[in-house]
Amino acid sequence: MKRLLGVIVLMMLLFGCSAEKNETGKREGNVVATTGHIADVIKEIGGGHLTVTALMGPGVDPHLYKATQSDLSKLENAEVIFYNGLQLEGQMLDIFDQMSKDKTVLAVGDKLDKDKLLDSEDEGLLHDPHIWFNIDLWKQVVDAVTETLVKEYPEYKDDFQANETAFLKKLDELQTYAQERIKEIPEKQRILVTAHDAFNYFGESQGFEVRGLQGLSTEAEYGVKDVQEMVDFLVEHKIKAIFVESSVSDKAMKAVIEGAKQKGHDIVVGGELFSDAMGAEGTKEGTYVGMYEHNIDTIVDALK
Ligand code: ZN
Repeated sequence: MKRLLGVIVLMMLLFGCSAEKNETGKREGNVVATTGHIADVIKEIGGGHLTVTALMGPGVDPHLYKATQSDLSKLENAEVIFYNGLQLEGQMLDIFDQMSKDKTVLAVGDKLDKDKLLDSEDEGLLHDPHIWFNIDLWKQVVDAVTETLVKEYPEYKDDFQANETAFLKKLDELQTYAQERIKEIPEKQRILVTAHDAFNYFGESQGFEVRGLQGLSTEAEYGVKDVQEMVDFLVEHKIKAIFVESSVSDKAMKAVIEGAKQKGHDIVVGGELFSDAMGAEGTKEGTYVGMYEHNIDTIVDALK
């Protein structure tokens, strides 16, 4: 009898415990994203319901980024993890694999139509991962993020879906703004010369020919012939401005500008573009829409 009582007490404790866990184990809404671009989507959709953390801040190169100890504990504590995928975060794949064993881990790039993805010119990369520069593709990402968040936090479904509708409208307005501003540049001058290869989706979706100085950006590939070819291209197309990113080699850019000058063609640095990282949190460029507008304004003002 005593033993039976003991079992009953034990069972009550167990049931009590699990009931309690259901109540206090209510999920807290901790969501982690790798890049600022993705974190911005989650903030837009999650509104006040979620706590959103981006691992990579301003100026961080996601291609080379390695998770820190503090990143690991953030990922550990997260209820849901979003990353870009398409091998953008090439150094973190093992971690995502590990984390996906006990929580939802979504590569947003995997949710896109494969035929909309651009091939990569890099060895070892199948697709170009810089998908955020095509606003239409980014709308698909917003869709995928919303769908996942609704599954994870069904109690906020209505809010998430209302927020999605509002954000998609903002993205449509952004696309209209971009198209209107780009009209200020004569068609022949819609050539974007930047430091690395981040702008192919931008070029494809906004009607620019894109050239990267990437081949010039490392010492090994920096050659007189490369500089000469770029100079000839810039002079021939009467290009007024080229653009820096935080990762650009100043040396290559200066050599190109100097080379063009010797041929009687002046080129200026048109400004700094946000490529693989967004601006500081709390600034306009710290949001996706603000970052994109900054790039459009910088490009149009320099090339028109
Ligand atoms: Zn990149």
